[in-house]
Amino acid sequence: EVRVRFAPSPTGPLHIGGVRTALYNYLFARKMGGKFLLRIEDTDQTRFVPGAEDYIKESLEWLGISPDESPWNPGDCAPYRQSERKPSYMQYALDLVEAGHAYYAFDTSEELEAMRERLTAARVVQPQYNSITRTQMKNSLTLPEEEVKARLASGEPYVIRVKIPRKEEVRLNDMIRGWVMVQSATLDDKVLMKSDGMPTYHLANIVDDHLMNITHVIRGEEWLPSAPLHVLLYKFFGWEDTMPEFAHLPLLLKPDGNGKLSKRDGDKLGFPVFPLNWENKVDGDTAAGFREQGYLSDAFLNFLAFLGWNPGDEREIFSLEELIEAFSVERIGKSGTKFDIAKAKWFNEQYLRAKSNAELAPYVIADAAKEGVTIIQDTAEALVALMKERVTFPAEIWQGSRFVVEAPTEFDQDIAGKRWNADAVTILTAYAETLEGYTGDFDAEKAKALLGETAEAKELKLGKSMQAVRLAVTGVGAGPDLMEIFAILGTEEVAKRIRFALA
Ligand code: GLU
Repeated sequence: EVRVRFAPSPTGPLHIGGVRTALYNYLFARKMGGKFLLRIEDTDQTRFVPGAEDYIKESLEWLGISPDESPWNPGDCAPYRQSERKPSYMQYALDLVEAGHAYYAFDTSEELEAMRERLTAARVVQPQYNSITRTQMKNSLTLPEEEVKARLASGEPYVIRVKIPRKEEVRLNDMIRGWVMVQSATLDDKVLMKSDGMPTYHLANIVDDHLMNITHVIRGEEWLPSAPLHVLLYKFFGWEDTMPEFAHLPLLLKPDGNGKLSKRDGDKLGFPVFPLNWENKVDGDTAAGFREQGYLSDAFLNFLAFLGWNPGDEREIFSLEELIEAFSVERIGKSGTKFDIAKAKWFNEQYLRAKSNAELAPYVIADAAKEGVTIIQDTAEALVALMKERVTFPAEIWQGSRFVVEAPTEFDQDIAGKRWNADAVTILTAYAETLEGYTGDFDAEKAKALLGETAEAKELKLGKSMQAVRLAVTGVGAGPDLMEIFAILGTEEVAKRIRFALA
């Protein structure tokens, strides 16, 4: 059975890249009829941010891609938080020490720093703790066995490091990148267990993926450099046969393609790079979210799916079900994807337009209520019909059509100065009279016909006065179809507004 996992660290709000990783894992699991797990990787207590875990949960719920197993709905592999699995890791590290694949290291931070300085002075580009330098450091490979025992017994702080072989070619067949080959000499003896008794990411991640029967690891490209170490760890543990397959997702790039997309880009360019609004209660850090900016969850999901994947044809609009059907890891690109907020907006517009007026009406009712205006479903639906084709976000519906509900008391002076003239006043006066005497059916077409006849009767060109007519009834110089507005308002209200404007 296919089992994949999303393994976020609760160090802050879930970045859009993280949400994409979650989505691809979800799609792959569903496509393969497998399971999608979520594991919280919180072994680094110094980077733990309260609220981050709830944020992750809420983000996935908003998008409808909640995991099958997680800290919130645990399955057979519980617990799903690494901090709660802490007691199990040490034994695995000790097993590696026993087998000669790991060792105790007693170096102080000063000693490590001195080593790095020595290497830097000797022009070593990447100073590392490795098969060469380990011979000069204080560890169980260099110290006499008795001394190691004594140091451990006395409670001296130590870490456990992996013993990277000096000369070995490490290979892995990435599902997206194909064969990746690395010489072990370029890897360093990463710490597996820290002096506080907590495992590092590398150890905990491998042990848990193994214990949770993970079959495929789908994660961001930033983890590709760690993959050779992970492959070695699977080998050292003797778990090669069940080693998961790897798929490293392409980076999300800044809109101009220059480097990785970051929170700062969003702030600078005025668009969100997080799914939901975020507020860190401790340090006050905030971030804007797609949801609160008015993105519909299905539109955002569709946008997200295309950040690195495509179906191989021209289709762009995909529901979650359709994405599952069409998804394949083979169609994920190798190169980074530029983040394009215009595309996100385009998706939102498509989804907004595809929704029925009744579906969108609640947004309008809620937006109006926020400003103390009560409107009924029918009115809200009429406003939706008026605005749907013209807006990107639901909030723009109320903003762009509120004058339908609230008669203007002020008029755009700039437009008035340019368009309010004797001809306009003549047409408006006559139109008000016509409407006051009219009792037949009234719709947009009729409103237009009556207005045209009125102008004709006065031998005036209507075109030049249209903006003044709009101004009189709506208070502004531009907006949705004016005759549709008249139809919604009805003859009485239109006439009343014109009289008010003329007065
Ligand atoms: N905890 C890692 C992260 O925050 C998980 C990386 C992985 O999927 O192996 O991205």
